[in-house]
Amino acid sequence: MFTHVAMYQGRVAADNILGRDHRASYDGIPRVVFADPEIAAVGLTAAAAAARGIAAAAAEVSVADSADRSWTYERDPRGAAGVLADRDRGVLIGAWAVAPLASEWIHYAALAIRARIPISVLLDQVAQYPTYTEAWHAALEQLSL
Ligand SMILES: Cc1cc2nc3c(=O)[nH]c(=O)nc-3n(C[C@H](O)[C@H](O)[C@H](O)COP(=O)(O)OP(=O)(O)OC[C@H]3O[C@@H](n4cnc5c(N)ncnc54)[C@H](O)[C@@H]3O)c2cc1C
Repeated sequence: MFTHVAMYQGRVAADNILGRDHRASYDGIPRVVFADPEIAAVGLTAAAAAARGIAAAAAEVSVADSADRSWTYERDPRGAAGVLADRDRGVLIGAWAVAPLASEWIHYAALAIRARIPISVLLDQVAQYPTYTEAWHAALEQLSL
């Protein structure tokens, strides 16, 4: 029950009215609590993955220690970011961040989950320095796959 989901469903419905076959997919849709700092998440939690019988690996990093943007953006950096991967498929299935602007950079993980981008590709991707997005790379490097 989100505005962005309602707008997506509107696009899907319009496409089908116009004769285009467009099935809705709810993979990789972000959810955010606009607190301070922002709380953003996408995909499965570790508990949800376990309930589905998925062999998952998780990793968590301090955003202040893994993204230099923290130090250019804040006086007292804080926050954390985490990733959850499917060991068998080698793809990201969940991610979260509690940090400034997390509602913006959660989309990096959201697209990775929706497009099932292999973790090997994500580890080879280059993020602009210094950005919060770099925290994803640090977290992915901590995964034991
Ligand atoms: C206080 C609040 C804050 C929110 N903040 C966020 C946020 O920050 N981000 C976010 O993603 N989501 C947020 N949401 C949720 C978001 O507003 C809803 O998920 C979204 O509006 C759902 O869109 P919808 O088009 O499905 O339904 P609605 O927006 O509820 O639209 C349904 C429409 O149908 C009309 N209607 C109902 N019955 C009839 C009828 N019989 N005949 C004709 N018309 C009818 C209603 O009047 C309404 O205009 C918030 C919701 C609330 C209440």
